[in-house]
Amino acid sequence: MGTTAVILGGGYAGVMAANRLAANGRPGLDVVLVTPELRFVERIRLHEYTAGTRADATVDFASILHQGVRRISDSAVEIRPDRRTVQLAGGAEAGYDYLVYAVGSAAGTAPDGALRIEQLEGAAAARSELAALPAGARVAVVGGGLTAVETAAETARNFEHLQVSLHSAGPVVPRLGTQTRRSVEKSLRRAGVKLHSGTPVPADGDVRTGLGADVVLWCAGFGVPGLAAASGLPVNNVGRLSLDPTLRVRGQDRIYGAGDAAVIDDPFYDYLRMCCAAALPMGADAAGNILCAMDGEAELRHDSGFRGLCISLGRSDGAVQFLSADDSATRFHLHGRTAAVQKEIICRMTLRWIRGEAKRSGAYTWPTGPQAGKATTATAPVARS
Ligand SMILES: Cc1cc2nc3c(=O)[nH]c(=O)nc-3n(C[C@H](O)[C@H](O)[C@H](O)COP(=O)(O)OP(=O)(O)OC[C@H]3O[C@@H](n4cnc5c(N)ncnc54)[C@H](O)[C@@H]3O)c2cc1C
Repeated sequence: MGTTAVILGGGYAGVMAANRLAANGRPGLDVVLVTPELRFVERIRLHEYTAGTRADATVDFASILHQGVRRISDSAVEIRPDRRTVQLAGGAEAGYDYLVYAVGSAAGTAPDGALRIEQLEGAAAARSELAALPAGARVAVVGGGLTAVETAAETARNFEHLQVSLHSAGPVVPRLGTQTRRSVEKSLRRAGVKLHSGTPVPADGDVRTGLGADVVLWCAGFGVPGLAAASGLPVNNVGRLSLDPTLRVRGQDRIYGAGDAAVIDDPFYDYLRMCCAAALPMGADAAGNILCAMDGEAELRHDSGFRGLCISLGRSDGAVQFLSADDSATRFHLHGRTAAVQKEIICRMTLRWIRGEAKRSGAYTWPTGPQAGKATTATAPVARS
């Protein structure tokens, strides 16, 4: 009898997992990807799309997905582990032997009058509004993280006739090294962005009035879909699916998680933030551990880490903060056009890694985490129900 692996979510983690499973060429393994979009969304390019410096932020699934993966254009509304099925919004039910939960992050809440750009629909709406603004109109970007900084710079540099401001409660990207942060702030000022750090943004009423802006782009943190919690699966305090270090859901022997929607519930892994750079290795390892489980072999602890943080500040400026494996800033950094080129290379490599995995299971490799070499077998083979 065949085995069905269902992957929920066709983002970076989900597509990587689907490719690693399908390209493995296991006889009788049916790999099914459930995702609502008809095309793969390059989320890491949504600020470019919003600011009009990129015509499209999607690519054809056929160009990145192993041809053996069966794609279903739908959304999961409930996971039923007792029956090993997933209820889909369109009414159908998908049965699984193994499940990968990779539904990513959703736009968090935003006050009235603000636009969110972390999903394609929001980015498209913001793009139209920005393009229609007359000279001198004011655009306020809210948030102190990378998405806010990249969006503010990209918008200011492409729409020189607009007045762009960046509002953050604390300092801009506080986890950068001091020199890198100063250089990012300088670049933003050169682009014409007015910085308002340390000022809480009014949360009541229409935020455009509070900030005196015609358009407000809200980039203050990601939320996650409520699917895991609604399905009775263990989640952390913000609704991310709770995993053990092998990326398996605690208390479940058939469900794995990867990417923004899931979190390894072990303090050792606190350094793994929500980002594409963490989602890809998690997707690959979740798939790898499913293959181990199918073979009755022990699963491996997840092991991934960081090397650099690439920031785009428009098309011809940027910054690269070199990192230790645990995501802490080192004293090394790059700036200017060289950094912008480096960031563009990384964005392109992201798709190349996914495509490489579609050609050969196991092709994608990534930097090891802190205490490299300590990622060892974590669990004895488990009896599957
Ligand atoms: C503007 C911007 C710039 C960024 N830049 C960087 C960067 O430079 N470097 C970096 O590392 N990270 C960056 N990120 C973060 C990065 O995009 C995310 O961390 C990454 O997309 C997470 O990958 P994922 O596969 O977990 O989720 P996603 O890429 O969000 O994919 C999740 C998928 O699940 C689908 N889905 C959701 N709900 C369901 C459901 N119920 N059923 C089925 N499918 C579902 C979604 O439609 C989507 O296809 C950036 C993000 C933004 C918004």
